[in-house]
Amino acid sequence: MKEQGILLIISGPSGSGKGTIVERLCGNEDFSLSISATTRQPRDYEKNGVHYFFHTKEEFLKMRDNMELLECAEFCGNFYGTPRKYVVEKLMEGRNVILEIEVQGALQVKKIYPDGVLVFLIPPNLEELGKRLTNRGTEEKEEINRRIHRALEELELVQEYDYVVVNDTIEQAVADVQAIVRAERMKCSRNKNIKKIFKGEMESC
Ligand code: 5GP
Repeated sequence: MKEQGILLIISGPSGSGKGTIVERLCGNEDFSLSISATTRQPRDYEKNGVHYFFHTKEEFLKMRDNMELLECAEFCGNFYGTPRKYVVEKLMEGRNVILEIEVQGALQVKKIYPDGVLVFLIPPNLEELGKRLTNRGTEEKEEINRRIHRALEELELVQEYDYVVVNDTIEQAVADVQAIVRAERMKCSRNKNIKKIFKGEMESC
C-alpha cells in the first residue's frame, strides 16, 4: 500500500511571504495546493477556483454545517475554510498537500490529523511586515493595522507549531521548508513499508 502524502500546513502573518513561498514550493515539489473557501471579497487579480472559492456567508456556513470543511476560522471579519474532500483524496493518493491557513485553523487540523506538519513563517521583523503589507497595496491602512495586530496575536501561538522559518529572503525560506519536508519524509513513522520491502527482496534472492 502507498504511504500517505505529507500534509504541510503553512501559517504566518499577512505579509510574511506565505503566498510566494507556497507558489515556489508547488513549482518545485510534488505538492498539491488546497484551495480554500472564503467569504472575503475577491481582490482585483483573484479568480474563483484559482485563488479561493468565493462564497456568501450563507453558503459558507452551510458547507461548514454539512461537515464539508476540514477546518474553518474567522479572520479579520471574514470566514475561511479548507474543503475536506480534496485534501483527503490527495493524501490517500500519496500526494503531499499544502494548506496555507491562519493559526486557529492550523491548530484544528493538528488536533484531528497529528501527522500534519505545522510550519510558522515569520518576517525578519515587525517593521518589515508593515512595509510588505503597505507595498503590496491590496489593503487599506485600517485593514493593514488590523492585520499587524492579528500578526502579534498569532505570534503568541508559535510554540504550538513544529517548525519556525524566518523569511529573510525567499530563496532561503523555500530551501528551509524543503529541508523540513525532506527530513519529515525520512521519519521512521512515515516509512512503515520499509520492513516489507526488505523482506520481499530477501525472499526473491
Ligand atoms: P487573505 O485574506 O490575505 O487571503 O488571507 C487571510 C488569512 O487567512 C491568511 O492568514 C491566510 O493564510 C488565511 N487563510 C486562507 N485560507 C484559509 C483557510 O482555508 N482556513 C483558515 N483557517 N485560514 C485561511
